[in-house]
Amino acid sequence: MSDAPGIPLSAEELAERKMRFLFALRSKGITDARTLGAMERIDRGDFVRGLFSERAYEDMPLPIACGQTISQPSVVGLMTQALQVGPRDTVLEIGTGSGYQAAILACLARRVYTVDRHRRLVREAEALFRALGLPNITAIAGDGSRGLPDQAPFDRIIVTAAAEDPPGPLLSQLKIGGIMIVPVGQSDAVQSLIRVTRTGEGFEYEELRSVRFVPLVEGMASD
Ligand code: SAH
Repeated sequence: MSDAPGIPLSAEELAERKMRFLFALRSKGITDARTLGAMERIDRGDFVRGLFSERAYEDMPLPIACGQTISQPSVVGLMTQALQVGPRDTVLEIGTGSGYQAAILACLARRVYTVDRHRRLVREAEALFRALGLPNITAIAGDGSRGLPDQAPFDRIIVTAAAEDPPGPLLSQLKIGGIMIVPVGQSDAVQSLIRVTRTGEGFEYEELRSVRFVPLVEGMASD
């Protein structure tokens, strides 16, 4: 296998990497067939640029522009699986980042809205969604801690940055019967991934596992 920088991989080598990528996801507990299908279709290599592109199929978070990170594939898989997205669902993602998670959700949902506070990340993700032929994603530059009141309520909400508590505006924009996945905790500590289900009476909370995400920061970024 050629791993030297600058030497492109052959089609066979790429296919083998992809197979190992999917196998690793299964071994980490991602068993839902629709989630695995979407992660087979969306190539993480398209969302990682430059120096780190060679590591796109490894199960680790990687740096992207604006000092942010693309999450670890097994965490993307677990969050997607826990969100239980149906084909008629409208999904809100807070934290577009590279666009990888949104692209996976777009394979599973009717429509995906994704919000990031960095305009540059939104612009670059939009260009990728167009190039990959994913017409059902709308990327918006904004402060996601307020949600997206104009398009609310949502069947599913996924937050890919850590908040100290599940943000109130997001809870109120979740439909009854809806599910939200959000990492909760201080940004410099280990956080808990929480699944919130909205019932007719209120909210049910379930802790899924420990994770580490970049913080949810209020307000727009300057770039
Ligand atoms: N889901 C991404 C990874 C997200 S990294 C992917 O698949 O690549 C977390 C992202 O959350 C960063 O891009 C950061 O800019 C964004 N973010 C942090 N606080 C935010 C806020 N208040 N509103 C919107 N986006 C925010």
